Amino acid sequence: EFKNLADMLTKNAKRYKNKKYIFFEDQKYTFNQVNKITNKLANALLRLGLKKGDRVAILLDNSPEFIFSFFGITKCGAVAVPINNFLKEEEITYILNDCEVKFLISSENYKDFFPYLKSNTNSLEEILTYDFSSSYSVNLNELMANESDENLPCDYDMEELAVLIYTSGTTGNPKGAMLTHKNLLSNCHSTTQAFKVKKRDRFLLFLPMFHSYAFTTCVLLPTFLGCSIIILRSVLELRSKKFKNILLFKRPTFFLGVPQVYSALAKAKLPNWFIKFLYPVRIHASGGAPLPEEILNVFKERFKKPIIEGYGLSEASPVVSVNRLEWQKPYSVGLPLPGVEVKVVNDDEEELPVGEIGELIVKGPNIMKGYWNLPEATTQAIRNGWLFTGDMARLDEDGFIYIVDRKKDLIIVKGINVYPREIEELLYQYPGVEAAAVIGIPDEASGEVPVAYVMPADGAELKEKDIKNYLKEHLANYKLPRKIIFTKELPMTATGKVLKRKLKELVLKDYQ
Ligand code: ATP
Repeated sequence: EFKNLADMLTKNAKRYKNKKYIFFEDQKYTFNQVNKITNKLANALLRLGLKKGDRVAILLDNSPEFIFSFFGITKCGAVAVPINNFLKEEEITYILNDCEVKFLISSENYKDFFPYLKSNTNSLEEILTYDFSSSYSVNLNELMANESDENLPCDYDMEELAVLIYTSGTTGNPKGAMLTHKNLLSNCHSTTQAFKVKKRDRFLLFLPMFHSYAFTTCVLLPTFLGCSIIILRSVLELRSKKFKNILLFKRPTFFLGVPQVYSALAKAKLPNWFIKFLYPVRIHASGGAPLPEEILNVFKERFKKPIIEGYGLSEASPVVSVNRLEWQKPYSVGLPLPGVEVKVVNDDEEELPVGEIGELIVKGPNIMKGYWNLPEATTQAIRNGWLFTGDMARLDEDGFIYIVDRKKDLIIVKGINVYPREIEELLYQYPGVEAAAVIGIPDEASGEVPVAYVMPADGAELKEKDIKNYLKEHLANYKLPRKIIFTKELPMTATGKVLKRKLKELVLKDYQ
């Protein structure tokens, strides 16, 4: 139906005209308004010399401007590169250089980075901002003022690049996953079907917009169907007073979160209105990291609604599978999306029977073209059209997927595989444990041994010996953590994944 992502906005503006599209603080924008703003922006970018296929990075907080920028870039046939706004100058510069960016769209919040970014990125011609001007940046609003708001032709091929999404780098240097218009549109289409999204749904967006999870499911998907998006600056706003008004007056129906958020909602002290006003939410979805079964159960008891878990990765645009409203299995990440195939294979790439654990591989129209400028990494990741996810999983007789763990997080004790997640699930069930993460550390006798990090809930007094005794009742000896380390917080990525690499560094430092 849509020729590409730019065409999607143009057509839906024609169709939904004055329907409210974006809500942010006291601002509201209709489909028509956003379409016109993005036309002006695209014309301004073209006048600055932007060409089809050029890369433009977006370094912005959650805001309507993020969406304007994305569609403005797309309308020029250029490639948007969302930047993780938790990164520091050097890390951002790595990405800007890697993709040879032409422009960066940013805001005053990041102005301290501008001199460094400019002097360390050869290809960067201009930094563009909406909210201010400086000697390092050009004001976009001024450039847009005299531009036309008429639709541009936008006859770009579906197979062309729309976005470069840089992985968060929990596995080394960030790699740019090349996603085409087709990848993203197909993912919107099949996610809509799996979730039975309705035109009147309103999406609450509080996860970081630069990440593929929020970007596809909370920005592109609502745009695809003509739904509204309610933008919060960050997850912290869920705890603010203004969230009460958002629930009362904007009435979100779709709540897309990560396990860390559900853990807080399940266990924290919440005012009465919170649970009451959250009632219109039809779907609470979770993805991005494993959802401990304990959290699922406590949440369900408190909110009288299930959490619908899904699974994905940036390389798959990102959604691969979701549980369905009408058919869910706890601990499972659901069934593959329509049009998406999955298999579980061993190290020789042979398909394994139901129930056996191996690497999950995925095929479908949502699989990226490859990694930007990394032909070898691309051949490693995509073989015969199948994306090797690096996640260990098993399937059941109904085709439901169960993620066991990340392949690289496996702990091999005396040659036997130990899945940290099995131990973590048990720790989450232990009274007074708020969060837990298990990692492997080198050991002379066994090769590797597990070590557990435990974050106690407020006021809980936990003892290493008691937890070890409890684990002993449930686990074979070789799986028992050598040590339980108590910590006030776990290092997390911006999207709620525990940074196990950091934990390893920490524990190894302690051991030396
Ligand atoms: P990197 O590849 O550098 O580590 P990343 O972790 O940011 O980057 P993402 O695309 O953000 O990559 O995350 C995808 C990964 O998140 C999946 O491969 C999987 O390990 C994990 N994941 C996502 N959803 C789930 C889920 N429901 N259960 C378990 N793991 C999940």
